[in-house]
Amino acid sequence: MIQFSGVSVVYPGGTHALSDIDLEIADGQFVVVVGLSGAGKSTLVRTINGLVPLTSGSLEVGGRRVDGASRRQLRALRADIGMIFQSFNLVKRTSVLNNVLMGRLHSTPTWRSLLGLYKRSDKELAFQALERVEVVEKAYVRASNLSGGQQQRVSIARALAQEPQVMLADEPVASLDPPTANVVMRDLQRINRELGITTIVNLHFLDLAKRYGDRIIGMREGRVVFDGTGEEADEKV
Ligand code: ADP
Ligand code: ADP
Repeated sequence: MIQFSGVSVVYPGGTHALSDIDLEIADGQFVVVVGLSGAGKSTLVRTINGLVPLTSGSLEVGGRRVDGASRRQLRALRADIGMIFQSFNLVKRTSVLNNVLMGRLHSTPTWRSLLGLYKRSDKELAFQALERVEVVEKAYVRASNLSGGQQQRVSIARALAQEPQVMLADEPVASLDPPTANVVMRDLQRINRELGITTIVNLHFLDLAKRYGDRIIGMREGRVVFDGTGEEADEKV
């Protein structure tokens, strides 16, 4: 479970990005967070892996306290959380397989990874992850030679290779055309269903949110202004 209790985040410049958020997200849930640019979606997601510190309140992820965690505890937390970004964040010069293996870095000593000495089990996990998002035939292709949709699926595979408990996706389809956006959302949904990974996806558009979210959280100016199912969203938003 992910539990926000009275969470506020004020950035150094004085922006109140989150104001008094109370939320409980059950294990295995597929949650979509919607809201305009600046509503606080990225900040909400980044508090979960400790990238943005809380100004006040408390936050627990899988029974682990995020606020007040030591650097070592944060490293352990991040190893269990897969992150997906709008801009894919792949290393473009290297192969798809190497990119996915980077998901294993949390559990591979640095010197081994620098020498490319991954364990066989790491490679097996990487290939399984690529199969799951149906880009396994691209394993030895340079990441830069893939389409946007394929790159995003590789970044999902990289997150999967971590064997995460939680998957966070910050505007994962914002730079994709609508058909490709649907493919990527379907992949995220299928992975959630098959593996039970708690998934939180930030989106701009309510139509995609309604199509894929079990639960939709609407944000405005750092506050939760809606929390319910897609049908309820139809009536209220
Ligand atoms: P969204 O993801 O919904 O676009 P954000 O969480 O990125 O919203 O931003 C919420 C508010 O916090 C915005 O006003 C934004 O400009 C501000 N903000 C985001 N990141 C920072 C930062 N690192 N420093 C200062 N202000 C920030
Ligand atoms: P996105 O919302 O797509 O993540 P942004 O352009 O809002 O991208 O933010 C890019 C980076 O700039 C992020 O690291 C964010 O935290 C930071 N940022 C956003 N708004 C501000 C702000 N007002 N002041 C300082 N940093 C900000």
